[in-house]
Amino acid sequence: KSDRLREKQNEIDSNAVAYPNNIPLAFDEGKGATLKDVDGNVFLDFFAGIGVYNVGHANPYVNEAVHEQVDKLTHSVDFPTEPRLELIEKLEELAPGNLSGNSRVVFGGPTGSDAIEASIKLAKYNTGGRGLVAFRNSYHGATSGAMSITSNSKLKKHYAPLLPDVVHAPFPHPFQEGRDPEESVERALEEVRATIEQPYGGLANPAGIFVEPIQGEGGVVVPPEGFLQGLRDIADENDLPLVFDEIQAGFGRTGEWWAAEHYDVTPDAMTTAKALGGNGLPLSATIYHEDLDTWGPGDHAGTYRGHVPAMVGGVRAIEYIQSHDLLDHATEVGDYIRERLREAGEGDSGLGDVRGKGLFIGAEFVDSEGNPDDDRVEAIQQYCYEHGVLVWTAGQYDNVLRLLPPLVLTQRQAEVGTEIIADAIAATAE
Ligand code: PMP
Repeated sequence: KSDRLREKQNEIDSNAVAYPNNIPLAFDEGKGATLKDVDGNVFLDFFAGIGVYNVGHANPYVNEAVHEQVDKLTHSVDFPTEPRLELIEKLEELAPGNLSGNSRVVFGGPTGSDAIEASIKLAKYNTGGRGLVAFRNSYHGATSGAMSITSNSKLKKHYAPLLPDVVHAPFPHPFQEGRDPEESVERALEEVRATIEQPYGGLANPAGIFVEPIQGEGGVVVPPEGFLQGLRDIADENDLPLVFDEIQAGFGRTGEWWAAEHYDVTPDAMTTAKALGGNGLPLSATIYHEDLDTWGPGDHAGTYRGHVPAMVGGVRAIEYIQSHDLLDHATEVGDYIRERLREAGEGDSGLGDVRGKGLFIGAEFVDSEGNPDDDRVEAIQQYCYEHGVLVWTAGQYDNVLRLLPPLVLTQRQAEVGTEIIADAIAATAE
């Protein structure tokens, strides 16, 4: 059945659809951290729709309320609804540092890219600037503004001109740079500072700094201590908004509500999406300091920012994560998986680096010369699929095995899944 669906999709769907050819799968049903395909095969889901199903597939606590809401009202544009206000209050309370209790939320419509566009417009509106500081190895989305601050030139080359005056500074990646973490941070911050502060040749009229606190598509790159704080300092000294893209790293994935909390650094604005709608319902938001709320009515607009079932999903997902202590659980299970992967890589020079926080996990593979080994990661992904575990890849060179299981993954499921990944690592070793 999977084959038939894929054949039909090839005939009638867009050529732009993209998934790895080595996992020939058609989904039918999800439950918790498992997925069933249309042929009845059951998989452990270690990718969760790219970090969407944080509370698990078909979470009953979320679905119960969503079902009720679907029968009642689905769309309210910007008019108030109880779920909308409830979700705003929860997000304003959960926001990190001094954003908590001092923030505003603007919903962005269905995609993370929508929230990124809102954050770019917010920064420009408040500063009157137009230059954007972003980072190498970043991913922020597929719309024109989001593509502009994304660094991957392969994704952008057919769409020029994008936004002008975007500079991509280095994002510290000690493993790839072969530098010690402190030096890597220093080098990155120096370039950001030069970009903003150089009198000649700097970025004219900057509007803000946009950064993933932990890079996702770039390969689960966890910046060393000091980097985000350094950006905070530069932003403060130059009176610029610092914007964190928490679309992949946020909403509990790293074992804190927001990746920013691991570093004790508070942004002026942050984006969230993916897991925000609860059970895969599309919703995104930009949460920003109330001092930046200078917009007037309609200065930023959108039809689908009143998706009531997704808002109900968000409220319920937050409650579920809190009542089941899923942040601590994600930390414990994530630490276990990282440890087990490191053990599996002992004596295997191909497994260069295992990193991440909570259930945001990356394992970077290199060949015997230390170059990115995407073939190995593809082979591991295929082995895992054939043995019942769905895993994802990431990184500029596609050489990072990326794991983003639902936060409800049980310890037992983690053990079974990681054992299969460890087998895949062994089976693909030279
Ligand atoms: N920012 C980050 C950090 C992301 O990981 C993504 C999606 N992978 C986006 C933005 C864009 O989100 P969407 O695909 O929903 O537009």
